[in-house]
Amino acid sequence: MPRHAACCYGEYMTPVGLSTSRAARAQPVAPPQERSITILGATGSIGASTVDLIRRHRDRYRVEAVSAGRNAVKLAEIARAVGARHAVVADHTAYQELKSALSGSGIEAAAGETALSEAAVRPADWVMAAIAGAVGLKPTMAAIERGATVALANKECLVCAGSLFMRRAAAVGATVLPVDSEHNAIFQALTAGRREDVARVILTASGGPFRTWTAEQIAKATPEQALRHPNWSMGPKVTIDSASLMNKGLELIEAHHLFALKPDEIDVLVHPQSVVHGLVEYRDGSLLAQLGSPDMRIPIAHCLAWPERIDSAAARLDLAKVSKLEFEEPDLVRFPALALAKQAMARGGAATTVLNAADEVAVAEFLAGRIPFMGIPALVEATLAAADKRGLLADLPDLDAAFAVDHTARSLARDLLPEIAVKSS
Ligand code: NDP
Repeated sequence: MPRHAACCYGEYMTPVGLSTSRAARAQPVAPPQERSITILGATGSIGASTVDLIRRHRDRYRVEAVSAGRNAVKLAEIARAVGARHAVVADHTAYQELKSALSGSGIEAAAGETALSEAAVRPADWVMAAIAGAVGLKPTMAAIERGATVALANKECLVCAGSLFMRRAAAVGATVLPVDSEHNAIFQALTAGRREDVARVILTASGGPFRTWTAEQIAKATPEQALRHPNWSMGPKVTIDSASLMNKGLELIEAHHLFALKPDEIDVLVHPQSVVHGLVEYRDGSLLAQLGSPDMRIPIAHCLAWPERIDSAAARLDLAKVSKLEFEEPDLVRFPALALAKQAMARGGAATTVLNAADEVAVAEFLAGRIPFMGIPALVEATLAAADKRGLLADLPDLDAAFAVDHTARSLARDLLPEIAVKSS
């Protein structure tokens, strides 16, 4: 069990998943005058919010490195704006474009998967892990290995290899700070009591754009409709996952690993206003929640300044204007992706690695218009069954095994695509 993993301790925070004795021995952390930071996934939605905060607090942060997949022009713009020392694109073919966009700036340019991991090990106190997808696991792990403080947006690290990731973080003394708004809310609410007094945690879900749609309507949903999230502005993959509720399933798995919770200690509540982000229930019946506007700059600011606080520029929450807060149980029939994620979490081993890989393939195919919306859970379910038949769901001994399962699950999913496309149309 990753009991000693999320190393959020010091005089300011009750440790998450740490034993009391280790917490008692932890020394107060003196926040650094200037924090050096690296942003992996700087050109994305989380990257943009992080850059916005850094530009508002230039005196507190120095940027070591920034990275992107292939958007060299945007990356160069960001690198110049924040005064980064180093910029990396994962895609080799974007290198020349990056180099010329940075010419005369003195900022080093690099490209490729290895360069991405090298950027993660450059000397930065704090690393934002905001690459989308399982491809973020290697560079994030590189930052963990050198004992950095990692602000974790990339939930796939925990879904693909959660036990290994958290065990390694604990072994090397790395600090993992949860960026996902629900997990950040729980992280904050956990400071109100002792870990052993926690009865359960609740993740809230907006319910996405199809919350009130019938099953027949959902079956005909287009990518454009699924990309129209009612409350949050996010990258395309996580937005589609929010529409299917797969995102909430991935977040259950994320919470399971981050906070060392058993599957039956984590619940989901649909909360359409997206104001209450997460709750912790203690044994005396107290429910502690974190509330805020649906703006990712709030949890990112919390992680950026932790254990202090900085202004986030997010709109202040006016509860009188919000007026009512609603909660309902998720519907696992209309949204089977959440049920699949729960089953994979309960199964353990590599089941969640397969779930994630199949979902990444399925979402890309849905966005390309090659499978219908309900083809997403159908493909995930079929891939899990095929992987089980091949004995692929056993425990993962190491990261290489996780990458191998991820790779095999993607090819299984691609092989199943024609059949699923027909069955779910
Ligand atoms: P985006 O799609 O907006 O951004 C993804 C980032 O990853 C971009 O910088 C992109 O670069 C980069 N990237 C894409 N492919 C690769 C690759 N092969 N190698 C290296 N870098 C790559 O995603 P989000 O910002 O929305 O999400 C990032 C992570 O944070 C996800 O894991 C998501 O689940 C999580 N998250 C996001 C939230 C949100 O509000 N957006 C909320 C909570 C969690 P390029 O621009 O060049 O493609």
